[in-house]
Amino acid sequence: MAGEHDRWQVAPDGGRVSARTCDHLELLHALRPHERPRSEETASTDRRAGEPVPAREAVASPGRVPPPDVARCADCEARGLRWVRLRWCVTCGYVGCCDSSRAGHAHAHHVATGHPLVLSLAPDEHWAWCYPDELFLVRATAS
Ligand SMILES: [Zn+2]
Ligand SMILES: [Zn+2]
Ligand SMILES: [Zn+2]
Repeated sequence: MAGEHDRWQVAPDGGRVSARTCDHLELLHALRPHERPRSEETASTDRRAGEPVPAREAVASPGRVPPPDVARCADCEARGLRWVRLRWCVTCGYVGCCDSSRAGHAHAHHVATGHPLVLSLAPDEHWAWCYPDELFLVRATAS
């Protein structure tokens, strides 16, 4: 488990003329891996025994990627809408739905806050998206 220091890079894109960079990569480098089930964490040093963290807190924690099974678009849920895929705001931990979802709460969150990066929480998507730079970002260590 060396995931804590995953390096991120701009996804290679043959369609672009010039190599573009993203100044927001450091946000991703500060991330910590998925919150693991409590049973596995009891021996960990950064959590006191007997203080279980509710799942909701994991969803809203900046710096901690929520596991997909607890992530949900709260704004959709409040309105009884369904979402397609979820995006996680790297800056504040907001979870919102993707542009293919009816409400597009992740993009709306970026517009409202200016937070630049979202990480896809879809199990089959392993990238982050930078709104200001319009770039996909991927783990350099992905095999
Ligand atoms: Zn960027
Ligand atoms: Zn939504
Ligand atoms: Zn945010």
